[in-house]
Amino acid sequence: MKTASSTPVAADHLLRCVHCGTVQASADRMFRCSSCSELLEVAYPEWADAGREFGLRLKEIWRERRNSTLPEDASGVWRFRELLPRVEREHIVTMSEGNTPLVDLHKAARDLGITRVLAKHQGMNPTGSFKDTGVSAAISIAKAQGYGLVCCASTGNTSASVAAYAARAGMKSTVLLPQGQVASGKLAQALEYGAHVLQLETDFDGCLKILHEVIRHFPAYLMNSVNPYRLEGQKTLAFELMEQLNWEVPDHVIVPGGNLANSSAIGKGFLELQQLGLISRLPKVSIIQAEGANALVRSMRESAGEKLIPVPPHTRATAIRIGNPASWRKAVSILRQTAGACEQVTEHEIAQAKAELGSQGVGCEPASAASFAGLKKLARLGFVKQQETAVLVLTGHMLKDVDYMLDAQMHRTLRPIPAEASAVIRALETINAGS
Ligand SMILES: *Cc1c(COP(=O)(O)O)cnc(C)c1O
Ligand SMILES: [Zn+2]
Repeated sequence: MKTASSTPVAADHLLRCVHCGTVQASADRMFRCSSCSELLEVAYPEWADAGREFGLRLKEIWRERRNSTLPEDASGVWRFRELLPRVEREHIVTMSEGNTPLVDLHKAARDLGITRVLAKHQGMNPTGSFKDTGVSAAISIAKAQGYGLVCCASTGNTSASVAAYAARAGMKSTVLLPQGQVASGKLAQALEYGAHVLQLETDFDGCLKILHEVIRHFPAYLMNSVNPYRLEGQKTLAFELMEQLNWEVPDHVIVPGGNLANSSAIGKGFLELQQLGLISRLPKVSIIQAEGANALVRSMRESAGEKLIPVPPHTRATAIRIGNPASWRKAVSILRQTAGACEQVTEHEIAQAKAELGSQGVGCEPASAASFAGLKKLARLGFVKQQETAVLVLTGHMLKDVDYMLDAQMHRTLRPIPAEASAVIRALETINAGS
């Protein structure tokens, strides 16, 4: 067994306001800027004088850790710990999150006339969504700080992930869900992992607003993505993806946008790699929203990203059914810095994109398919060009929302046939004939 390599520079961090730039050493339970109340992001002042050596050594260290059997090295998050807030080993809560496959979508590329389309499948995480990478980071910090109770508002996947990681950490978890708006797979997970589930008669935005009020008065640890440590875990997608691409930067990374933390986190990951000299250019990070939950699309079009235009959200892609996205300022900054596009897709385009991925053997949940629907639109608009490479982030697992698929495949309702070999052979003959 190999042991973990030592850290060349210990990354310790500060919290910086994404709006007014105020820097603070720590945050209160609300994770808001002490001067203007906007969101904070994690910053690493020590990197400024880390030098180019640091970046180059990191690639080696990360590669070496793939042969290690230590839990923190087997994690697709903590393997990159030089670029994360420092957490003692005994506080790291991990289930080998990350480490997700990068799938070549040959047929999609051919159909669109694009050089290469790849899917980074975050649905292959321990609880079936990218949320695990962020939750592993944030819950480890909560454990280090001695919290016994973690809380979140959720469209479903955060609650499943928080419930599982809290259970692993020996903590209690309470999740606030919008009544009747959570896919059954996600609700079942939260219950099975032992979360205390509170269903509120409101939507996700309403749940988050209420949770903020609660945390102001009650000493629980806030696990929503206003917690900047969530994004530190989620940004490791960029590191892992670059390793899988042998450090060749793709032209496009396309991400569905709900509360807009994931797109922001992925963009932050690429910006940090560039800052440390590990990559020399950035991919365009584009964000795709459902037409019925298009707050960022509207604010980009109607105010050039200067102010958020909240909407009453409607979409069957429940993971992105969010009308008042908390991380919109971070997302605008990523769109600007990477020159990405912000687009919307219809319910029909999402359903079609999902079914096409499925027919290519790649399942995902409806919100994830928005990224493929978005790629198709961006290719049509000429934003993604023929000689380019695009990476789709598939955010969640196919089995999260089985009802959606059964509805979509209704037209193929199965008709029973007699339990006889001859009947099956007749069916096979028809199939072989190509009908
Ligand atoms: C949470 C989630 C999203 C949205 O991510 P944000 O960070 O809220 O933008 C998209 N797809 C799936 C499957 C999710 O679970
Ligand atoms: Zn501020």
